[in-house]
Amino acid sequence: MWTVKVVSLGVLALSLSLELLYRLLCRLKPSKTLNEVLFFPSEVACVEHIFSPTSAQSCFCLLPHGVETSFCRLLRHILSASSSLDLCVFAFSNLDLGRAVLALHSRGITVRILTDKDYSAISGSQIGLLRKAGICVRCDVGSVYMHHKFAVVDNRLLITGSLNWTLTAVQSNMENILITEEPDLVLPFIEEFQRLWMHNDPARYHRSGDQTPAE
Ligand SMILES: [Zn+2]
Repeated sequence: MWTVKVVSLGVLALSLSLELLYRLLCRLKPSKTLNEVLFFPSEVACVEHIFSPTSAQSCFCLLPHGVETSFCRLLRHILSASSSLDLCVFAFSNLDLGRAVLALHSRGITVRILTDKDYSAISGSQIGLLRKAGICVRCDVGSVYMHHKFAVVDNRLLITGSLNWTLTAVQSNMENILITEEPDLVLPFIEEFQRLWMHNDPARYHRSGDQTPAE
């Protein structure tokens, strides 16, 4: 009988020690790199609280409030920028995403947008408004689509996937976005953005006398 009790106490002590050790190791681990996957369509809900947290409670629009959707997460990541946003997107017509980019610009964040020439001119595109606000936009002038959909926040956070920055993509289509701080994934996108940005520099076309620059 005593033997059973002693063995039971021993097992209990061992499991407690292991749990304590596990908790200690968890504490010692370096902070986790951000990795997140979002799927769309996103539930339609009010996003006012993301733009102005203090006035959210006074929003009387008819959309559901207090719902944390995929689109909310996307907006939060974009608005987390503290120094730069590099955006490379085929179609950009979503009003809330346009508002987010304008908010960053007004906070003094350096915003660069690279987009497709044909789609920048379609009805509802936000590109004209963003340019008017003073945001630097370059259009790909090649004969094929500039079909990327990625953004890099602060040269630190990559947002990439199938999602165009349109209302249809956010609210209707089946889409995905991967959000990551993994340097091995972020760096190639930084380099590709820089390559495309330089390649579509309007000054190149001025100098070469080639086609009219899109900027
Ligand atoms: Zn509302």
